[in-house]
Amino acid sequence: MKLNGNYDKVKDSYLFVEIAKRVAAYTANNPQAKIIRMGIGDVTRPLAPVVVEAGLKAMAEMGHAETFRGYSPDSQGYEFLRDRISEYYARMGVKVASHEVHVSDGAKSDCGNIVDMFDDGNVVLVPDPVYPVYVDSNIMSGRKIVYCDGTEENNFAPLPDEKISCDIIYLCSPNNPTGAAFNKTQLAAWVEYARKQGAVIIYDAAYEAFVTDPDVPRSIFATPGARECAVELCYFSKTAGFTGVRCGYTVVPDELCGGKFAKMWARRQSTKFNGTSYIQQRMAEAAYSEEGIKQNMENIAAYRKNAQLISAALDEMGIYHTGGKNSPYIWLKCGMDSWKFFDKLLFDANVVGTPGSGFGKNGEGFFRLTAFNTYENTAEALSRIKKIL
Ligand code: PLP
Repeated sequence: MKLNGNYDKVKDSYLFVEIAKRVAAYTANNPQAKIIRMGIGDVTRPLAPVVVEAGLKAMAEMGHAETFRGYSPDSQGYEFLRDRISEYYARMGVKVASHEVHVSDGAKSDCGNIVDMFDDGNVVLVPDPVYPVYVDSNIMSGRKIVYCDGTEENNFAPLPDEKISCDIIYLCSPNNPTGAAFNKTQLAAWVEYARKQGAVIIYDAAYEAFVTDPDVPRSIFATPGARECAVELCYFSKTAGFTGVRCGYTVVPDELCGGKFAKMWARRQSTKFNGTSYIQQRMAEAAYSEEGIKQNMENIAAYRKNAQLISAALDEMGIYHTGGKNSPYIWLKCGMDSWKFFDKLLFDANVVGTPGSGFGKNGEGFFRLTAFNTYENTAEALSRIKKIL
């Protein structure tokens, strides 16, 4: 037996494992420290009442012979949820048919699994800074990765470079970690580039619900031509606080590879995935009901308020940053080694953030803060940061 040697090429420790280690070591020596966490991108507000109600109802159904459910009839997801997701797109003026939606247990799985669709010889284009899963999942399957640079000069919204050729393009907008979002013109440029290259765009729309700017599309499929060259990954984690519930979906349009991509993805899922639970899917259905959207938007409004607070404090200190608008992430220029800045914030302000270098070479000198803590903690963290800076 020979182990997959590509695993030797991925970094030993995942970013958040290293952060957790450093925080644990600090708190062991300073048990009295009141740590404020603005590091990992996890939500903190409770689920919307309408979602909890749907979960309890579905759970009760499982306790009666007449309404009990086992495996879902199709690993692609129950029709009631796929229909609801299709309606969700219709609300934003984007046409996605129910049969183009493939329900899963979240985006990390879909991001990791979608690489099964591609030949190992394909070249992958990734903007740097980047959500590390895109890179690691392709390294694990031995693919070549090329990068395009997100920098202060392009406000971390890099545009395609015609000189680079590639087969698979990862885009995340609004972006994790930078909070930057592509506007209509910028996304149209990416779609045009992908079509010229004969490449596919894997579009991560995790933070679409945070978009407020009408010039920023919430779905790649709002861009003409995208149905011929893109797949969209989306999920309930940040839209509806499902990081602990788990439910997501991938949209594969009929036009992509003349329908072959959708067939292959459905085939892959039916072999390697047995569906998301009935309870999760009923909860997700409720999250995209009219009342669910209203209740979830109250949570998102609270995170947005925190993001604005962080952004205003950085403006006041004259610190360059992106995000905060259309996004729960704020990407600030720390002007020093980003792990050094991490330690400074942890030791001197007891605030945990995420060092930019964990997201790629262009992240060095930058730092990510999240807006997912409470308003009070966010305000307290900012006042401590102001003091030490
Ligand atoms: N994609 C991006 C850009 C993310 O930021 C995250 C989570 O933080 C994920 C995917 C993973 O989402 P899920 O909770 O659905 O696995």
